[in-house]
Amino acid sequence: MSDLEKRFDLKSLVDKLEKTGDLSDEEFEALIYSEDAEFSDYLKERARAVREKHYGKDVYIRGLIEFTNVCKNNCKYCGIRCGNKNAERYRLTKEEILSCCDMGYELGFRTFVLQGGEDPFFDDDMMVEIIKEIKKNHPDCALTLSIGEKERDTYKRFYDAGADRYLLRHETADKAHYEKLHPADMSFEHRMNCLKDLKEIGYQVGCGMMVGSPYQTKEHIIKDLRFLREFKPEMVGIGPFIPHHDTEYKDEQAGSVDLTIRLLSIIRLLLPDVLLPATTALGTLDPRGREKGIEAGANVVMPNLSPTNVRDKYLLYDNKICTGDEAAECIRCMEMRVESVGYKVVQSRGDHESVH
Ligand code: SAH
Repeated sequence: MSDLEKRFDLKSLVDKLEKTGDLSDEEFEALIYSEDAEFSDYLKERARAVREKHYGKDVYIRGLIEFTNVCKNNCKYCGIRCGNKNAERYRLTKEEILSCCDMGYELGFRTFVLQGGEDPFFDDDMMVEIIKEIKKNHPDCALTLSIGEKERDTYKRFYDAGADRYLLRHETADKAHYEKLHPADMSFEHRMNCLKDLKEIGYQVGCGMMVGSPYQTKEHIIKDLRFLREFKPEMVGIGPFIPHHDTEYKDEQAGSVDLTIRLLSIIRLLLPDVLLPATTALGTLDPRGREKGIEAGANVVMPNLSPTNVRDKYLLYDNKICTGDEAAECIRCMEMRVESVGYKVVQSRGDHESVH
């Protein structure tokens, strides 16, 4: 036991987190880094109990459509940053995007997530057209966008066109750390402002951080947790950092699966009814990563609906899983995985509880 652990009764810290959602920095540190197995089990058990109180055994599926890997940004950790001349670029046509949704609908999906690089080819008018068409074809579905930083007016236009949700990870809540991970033309303030705008406009908003990104310290993680508590997003997407061979971080260590899982449980207690995905990055580092995430309090999985001929090109990091499977196989595989740990994939929009 470390000194820090000796000073705290870890179980009572979990109870305090569950009751108040608030801990001191030292208390957070003790929770995040404890190596006590009995405590780990207790934390997961409480996270699962809170998750089941709000969502039962249901796991929501989101159909992820990675519609372009062209990006004007040069985030230092990302395999599709514009500076990577080795990335083979692609764009889906509007028709291809719509047919991904149709196929997804047949397979039972009721949420589509359009994710991509920041690709100027898809200008505001074109995005509005795509959003309207998807919502017209599938009015009972929720539409999520994850296409990076835009201006407020643009976010408003997309919302008015029918987009319901927006995922924009904050990546790190520490300004100096953010600036290390991004080139000088990107700004921490702008990203944070985007999140604020999205929320004010009325989107259900998702943010989140990479776990174990280069230069990340325990202070950064505590800051991330405090930011999440204060911002109260409807969704939190976290996953381990994984190096990509064509980035300057190619020799950096990947983030830890155990730490990611620990943080999933802590976030579940911090924001009891949050939508919390067990991410592909977690499944990439550990074959049972997503199952472990669900056992730790996650309640969302995001199988890939992109056409197979582009799957292996949306590579944010190395060794990404599921790049060869058809969508139908992906969902079946996911259902089996979810059932293997006692939960059930449901066909519903799976809105955040407060939105019904
Ligand atoms: N362009 C959009 C979508 C980004 S991709 C946007 O800016 O929001 C989705 C997420 O993948 C990113 O927010 C980042 O957190 C994650 N990601 C990127 N590179 C990664 C890497 N090397 N390892 C793990 N996660 C990574």
